[in-house]
Amino acid sequence: MDNEKLLQYYVLLEKLADAMFDDSPDNIEKLKKVLAQLCKLLRISKGVTRYFKSPAHEARDKGDTIVCYDSGEKSVIAMEMRIVTRTLSVAHCMVYMAEGEPPLEDDEKEKVKRIMRATLNYITRNRLQDYVERMTFFDDAGYPNLQSFTRYLSQHAADGTLAGQTTVHFNLRHFTLINQEIGRNGGDIAMRNYYDKIAAAVGEGGIVCRVGGDSFVAAFAHDRTEAVLDILRGAPTAYDLQNTKRIMVSACVGVFVLPEDFEFRTLSDVMDKLLPCSRAARDGGQETIVVYNNNMAAGKEKVMRIQQLFPQALENGEFKVFYQPKIDIETGEIVGAEALCRWIREDRIVPPMEFIPVLEQNTDICKLDFHMLEMACKDIRRWLDEGKQVVRVSVNLSRKHMMDVDLLEHILKIIDDNNVPHEYIEIELTETTTDVEFKDLKRVVNGLQRAGIYTSVDDFGMGYSSLKLIREIPWNVLKVDKSFLPVDNDSEQSTRSIMFKYVVAMARALGLETIAEGVETENQVDILRNNRCSLAQGFLFDKPLPLEQFEDRLEKHRYEMKSDHH
Ligand code: C2E
Ligand code: MG
Ligand code: MG
Repeated sequence: MDNEKLLQYYVLLEKLADAMFDDSPDNIEKLKKVLAQLCKLLRISKGVTRYFKSPAHEARDKGDTIVCYDSGEKSVIAMEMRIVTRTLSVAHCMVYMAEGEPPLEDDEKEKVKRIMRATLNYITRNRLQDYVERMTFFDDAGYPNLQSFTRYLSQHAADGTLAGQTTVHFNLRHFTLINQEIGRNGGDIAMRNYYDKIAAAVGEGGIVCRVGGDSFVAAFAHDRTEAVLDILRGAPTAYDLQNTKRIMVSACVGVFVLPEDFEFRTLSDVMDKLLPCSRAARDGGQETIVVYNNNMAAGKEKVMRIQQLFPQALENGEFKVFYQPKIDIETGEIVGAEALCRWIREDRIVPPMEFIPVLEQNTDICKLDFHMLEMACKDIRRWLDEGKQVVRVSVNLSRKHMMDVDLLEHILKIIDDNNVPHEYIEIELTETTTDVEFKDLKRVVNGLQRAGIYTSVDDFGMGYSSLKLIREIPWNVLKVDKSFLPVDNDSEQSTRSIMFKYVVAMARALGLETIAEGVETENQVDILRNNRCSLAQGFLFDKPLPLEQFEDRLEKHRYEMKSDHH
């Protein structure tokens, strides 16, 4: 090699090094250009690299091929090189020379070798980077993950283009059920297709990431919001590869539109707003999209305050049992009572709706429920000891208890420690939403049943009442929610009247006692009678009463039924 060529060679080598350390997106193009020049200089007509993720991929010849340079001449292989990296990926490099070209001189060979080695190193390092990127920013199923979301937010914040964008957090609805229905495989395909729909609506500029299971977050330009929400409200989604079978997929969504003065510091600046919204969307009945507003911050403060006050308040005995009588409308007798919680805080009575949903956000509610059961047991024991009239008392247990595998033992321990005969206790449980909960519920009710403790389905008809719930679980009592109870101006043909009639008839056929909740008028008592529902609870008879008043009531014992002529 003459001096001029040698100089050229070193200049190109320097360029090659630059290209290899270049971080810009078109560095591969730059690299190819330098390699082409080097090839020409070293009389190489074609250079090819191949990359295999593992020796197994190599054996099956499944790899990526990059042609770095090709003069187009008819060529034969001149040199080959193969390297195996420490992570066991394999890379090959082949260089060709045009037919008839004299063979490489020794010093040329050395130079070609050096370039081949550098190129292979570069390729494997580059692939490794890709791989690390995939591991960091994508989950196992190939969805972008929370890390990607954070990167998106911080990049846009740095560019000043984040404020005004819409962010959402969403949970696919009933996806466990969907998986059961169409199989795991179908579920995966449906999720992917649904994701693709949302990603399309979000557009090139936005991002959709999976944060686990069936939960996702997304961020996108504000003008895309309606298109995205449209899909989240529900979209028929294919769940087979042939694209023929479809299932409706929808989501519970929290929405937070980043205000103009929004400052992004950490991920929680966004998530702390989104998560309570999507939780509210999931738990709150009809509304499946909840948009963040500033009042929610106030709500959150209230929540935190209650959570802070709770332990001390429980210890101080601020939670009292109020008893609401249950009446046999044929005789007017009190046949039972429901224990309802009241928080006496600074001489004010706080109603349960203000604190129970808050306590249900963690397991505080369980402590409260056990406290209520304990207090009720103590009252019953005292009535028995004083030779007073005693009725069965029902205690409400939150669904949160279903996670507690020792629930049954806990309940029995409280009752037995207080030496209360089991027939005086009834446990009220509400309907469940998921299948897992259903199994737990069934186990708990069966256990209570065996221990001789009454069980009732509370608020029947409110939520996700299913026939399965009352057919497969051996309840004693069905408490028909007041939303099922006809009101005075309902005709007998109204949906409410008809539903009420059939629910009561069905419960009777299944051997369940029925009690109507929220009875407020004489008229409703007549309706109960006509439908042979003989038990009632409601303001017409009594509000939930503090202990002493309830004891007075028990003494008096009987209500004068106005329509006793029946
Ligand atoms: P629930 O178990 O369905 O209790 C019946 C609710 O209906 C009570 O509300 C009661 O005061 C109300 N009510 C009774 N009669 C009438 C009526 O004629 N008209 C109307 N409009 N309402 C009537 P309260 O005491 O405010 O309790 C609300 C809910 O809070 C309860 O509904 C129950 O789900 C929950 N709760 C109360 N105490 C406890 C407790 O100790 N533990 C748990 N886990 N939940 C409780
Ligand atoms: Mg109840
Ligand atoms: Mg109820």
